[in-house]
Amino acid sequence: MAQQIPVDAAAEVEAPLGSDGTRAVTDDLAYQRHAIVNVVFHGPPDAGDRSWTLIDAGIMGSKSAILKAAEARFGAGARPAGIVLTHGHFDHVGVVEDLAREWDVPVWAHPLERPYLDGSAAYPPPDPSVGGGLMARLSPLYPRAPVDVSAHLRDLPEDGSVPTMPGWRWIHVPGHSVGQVALWREADRTLIAADAFVTTAQESAYAVAVQEPELHGPPMYFTTDWAAARRSVETLAALAPERAVTGHGRPLEGEALREALRALARDFDRVAVPEGGRYVEAPARAEDGSAYTRP
Ligand SMILES: [Zn+2]
Ligand SMILES: [Zn+2]
Repeated sequence: MAQQIPVDAAAEVEAPLGSDGTRAVTDDLAYQRHAIVNVVFHGPPDAGDRSWTLIDAGIMGSKSAILKAAEARFGAGARPAGIVLTHGHFDHVGVVEDLAREWDVPVWAHPLERPYLDGSAAYPPPDPSVGGGLMARLSPLYPRAPVDVSAHLRDLPEDGSVPTMPGWRWIHVPGHSVGQVALWREADRTLIAADAFVTTAQESAYAVAVQEPELHGPPMYFTTDWAAARRSVETLAALAPERAVTGHGRPLEGEALREALRALARDFDRVAVPEGGRYVEAPARAEDGSAYTRP
């Protein structure tokens, strides 16, 4: 089974590592790779205190690199105006408790993701039968319990706005997790895609080493509703983004990105969905509570 859509090399645009430890995507958007996962910084360089936004919070051990990049990019002691979580998987919330406390900032997320972020629920068990390469590599970093940022947690507004990111809106892209969101800026068609699709094969050590540009569905091990995941890719493909930053892998841009995204949406069941596995026949859903388990 093909598990990726090949992408024309012209789509790959990884900027060099800047002096602040991030890689630029646009003038006011940059990302930093922590082992296998990306965190994104939004706000112009030298924005100053409470004038920028952190999107996602890396893995355990990411704190000092995030703090260093924030200081270098936005100014000494510059705290963000908010943290936006695309979803609550452990590789996206690694140091969110620490950062929320230290910076005393609101943490914005989709209400369906709230149980995983206030300590009240764990994700459904992952499915190791669909490919565990990423998970095997990350296993020393697994947290033991769901995070609890309830003191700082806020629901993203129903009107689709992103409070600390004017010009952006959030888009519900469930499937990989029930409350996953992508972030979209229409003005320059920039997409922060979370794990709705990714640009590296998390299940394959070979692909990670070779780093050919390619498009994949969401990391399989954690995806609990494949029909929803397909609709989410269709939604994002219809946006026809100019550039996309994903939770894992390098950003892609231009017509080659759009073409690959359309192909992924079209061939999603063949390319992205595992041939078998715990959630292929019976998805975990928010509606019947099966997406939530006791921690
Ligand atoms: Zn995830
Ligand atoms: Zn992820």
